[in-house]
Amino acid sequence: MPTTTRVFNFSAGPAVLPLPVLEEAQRDLVSLPGVGMSVMEISHRSKTFEDLMHQAADDIRALASIPAGYAILMLQGGASLQFSMVPMNLLAPGATADYIDSGSWAAKAVKEAKKVGKVNVAATTKADNYSRLPNAADMALTSGAAYVHMTSNNTIEGTQWTSLPLVGDAPLVSDTSSDMFSGPIDVARHALIYAGAQKNLGPSGVTLVIIREDLLARSSDTLPAMLSYKVHAENDSLYNTPNTFGIYILGLTMKWLRSLGGLDAIACINQRKAGKLYAEIDRTGFYRGTARRDDRSLMNVTFRLATDDLEEAFVKESAAAGFDGLTGHRSVGGMRASIYNAFPEEGIDALVSFMREFERAHG
Ligand SMILES: *Cc1c(COP(=O)(O)O)cnc(C)c1O
Repeated sequence: MPTTTRVFNFSAGPAVLPLPVLEEAQRDLVSLPGVGMSVMEISHRSKTFEDLMHQAADDIRALASIPAGYAILMLQGGASLQFSMVPMNLLAPGATADYIDSGSWAAKAVKEAKKVGKVNVAATTKADNYSRLPNAADMALTSGAAYVHMTSNNTIEGTQWTSLPLVGDAPLVSDTSSDMFSGPIDVARHALIYAGAQKNLGPSGVTLVIIREDLLARSSDTLPAMLSYKVHAENDSLYNTPNTFGIYILGLTMKWLRSLGGLDAIACINQRKAGKLYAEIDRTGFYRGTARRDDRSLMNVTFRLATDDLEEAFVKESAAAGFDGLTGHRSVGGMRASIYNAFPEEGIDALVSFMREFERAHG
């Protein structure tokens, strides 16, 4: 039976989920096979749920080849709560944390960290409207920093690191909310990785945290329990009731990713998808990519047209043609096509055709 018609969803987040994941969830929504209840109705302390959560964690470990010595946590509060939890747990009084200010989300992380402790903005590209990543020479790192915080993919501006910045011995903390598992990730070079699930991992309401276990010792016992990595790690993310349904969908999404061939395979697909779109943007000059070429994101493709009127027409006509969510973030303007792992390649091909036709009509 064909699924209800689906539009091409370019939303930046919450974002498109893999169709097989939605279909499996739909099939099993009322009664999980062998359980006779919905996944939303079972105890988070039940063996069924614990198995499901451990399976998701095992799939995450396998996907990213996570070395021993890292804990996987599934928390709530989104990436935004991590902006606070990271410094509350890792930034001791008197110490300094370095932040790389590469985009609007990075700036929010800085703002929250400053409420907790001492922050050094090691580099910023704000003066360039975050249209590029900092160059290595721009970086002013603190020796003995508590950690260095980076944002692997700048969702709003459409830039993405293709290799990790060199931070010496400092523990590297990365907000990977918008490109987690879009390709291989070298976990061993990170101390902590976090990602709100709703872009590339599943639905909103789950936050994946991968933390090197030696860092857990930094969580002070005076922290509220719900804000302590140590408490969540000691309780296997079950200190209180987690987002059971969200974790279930995240688990299905990890299973789907493994079935595709894992992170090397998805990286290849993502390169091809983004490559088609950037090629069209660069073809004649009618469209203009807003990010520096070397820093272009494979996840969020940002571009503009020559005038506001043209952009307005593009948004209107593309929406009428069944493309949803192409309006750029209000702080950047223009257009943004978010093309996460689950975004189908047919949708890219369709958008490229639409862009050509639009240029022919308006160019
Ligand atoms: C979306 C996003 C956030 C905010 O995520 P929430 O889960 O809504 O708090 C933070 N950082 C990046 C890079 C994002 O893309």
